[in-house]
Amino acid sequence: MNAEIICIGTELLLGQTVDINSAYLARELADLGINLFHKSTVGDNLGRIVPLLRQAWNRSDLVILSGGLGPTQDDLTREAVAELLGEPLEFREEAWEEIVTYFKKIGRPLPESNRRQAMFPASARVLPNRLGTAPGLLVESAGKYLFAFPGVPRELIGLWEEQARPFLKRILTETGHPVLTSKMVRMIGIGESAMEERVMDLIRHQTNPTIALYVGKGDVLLRITARGDSEADNLRRIDALYQQIRERLGEYIYGTDEETLEEVVGRQLLARGWTLATAESCTGGLIGHRLTLVPGSSSYYLGGVISYSNQLKTQLLQVPEAILREHGAVSEATAKAMAEGVRRLTGADVGIGVTGIAGPGGGTETKPVGLVYYSVALPERTVVEHRVFPYNREGNKEAAAQAVLGLLWKTLR
Ligand code: ATP
Ligand code: MG
Repeated sequence: MNAEIICIGTELLLGQTVDINSAYLARELADLGINLFHKSTVGDNLGRIVPLLRQAWNRSDLVILSGGLGPTQDDLTREAVAELLGEPLEFREEAWEEIVTYFKKIGRPLPESNRRQAMFPASARVLPNRLGTAPGLLVESAGKYLFAFPGVPRELIGLWEEQARPFLKRILTETGHPVLTSKMVRMIGIGESAMEERVMDLIRHQTNPTIALYVGKGDVLLRITARGDSEADNLRRIDALYQQIRERLGEYIYGTDEETLEEVVGRQLLARGWTLATAESCTGGLIGHRLTLVPGSSSYYLGGVISYSNQLKTQLLQVPEAILREHGAVSEATAKAMAEGVRRLTGADVGIGVTGIAGPGGGTETKPVGLVYYSVALPERTVVEHRVFPYNREGNKEAAAQAVLGLLWKTLR
């Protein structure tokens, strides 16, 4: 099955909106094993949308449209599909009822212009949209499929996950396409090339499943993909290979699939019944932010101090002035004193301290930009590590946060 994506919206051409929908859809199509051969963007102009749509419909088995399903005059996707099919737009009671129900739910008056959103080409199916006003649309014709989704990413993702993806999975199975299944293995504390070396023979001999390596933000990822007759079959193959990979790389694997480091660390803390507090300097609260992205984190994360100045480091965390004087604010001793200090201050079981030079200025010969010291203080011992990151200010902050969470994970394991 060959697919094509068309994003509709003048704001995309002006660079006012960054197109994230097509990147999302492209990843999803790859996961399903559907080839994506073309991706294009067109403004809100019927004279330009229709020819592009016609070309796509002629050459592709699956056409996915994003945007232009709203109630305003510049939302032209329904008109374009009707013109492509040579069908009139007709009012659909079932779509209108969905829209009425949605407006009731959010407690807003329903503008007359929204009636446009209940107009569909005669042969199109209405895809109800739980998350917004614009229903999606599906056209099936002679083994070809056309989906149109609203442009709001949250709504597009909702319609894709709830309706389009299961639909396409079924079509693929029915038409004898092999089923694709994959597992993402997430690692930290090892570089990409070191990881590759350890699994080189597996990569060389790969046929099914296959292995692909990626570099994430401060972690490395390995994706195992199997192709077969059924998901259960694929999972068996994937698991066999995953066991081999674990034997070689197990000490670096912190999670799989969509798991994040903050989730994994949260589970480790819960399992021990331990609480955590953070003392952040160069990361400016980023670690606290990530920890609190996890639902339920209040049961182990007490909170933290953004001790950016030396004054707060000494007054609040009781980092000895002598340490700051002799070793400097960015040093092993300071990171350690911050972690131990916040632990003492809050009564948490585990304390974290991080201090570094995010850049672009402030680096010296001995302490370059990107140098970060970070520490984890446990009831029995305190560990410290340091790294020099090569990124810009924001990148160094992100990498530092990731490294700290990585050290916490390693220490609690
Ligand atoms: P609505 O009912 O909200 O008008 P719509 O289908 O008409 O939905 P658009 O008007 O095209 O969608 O876009 C709605 C919102 O989604 C806008 O804020 C737009 O910037 C954003 N958007 C549109 N296309 C994309 C895209 N490809 N990636 C990310 N955001 C997008
Ligand atoms: Mg719109």
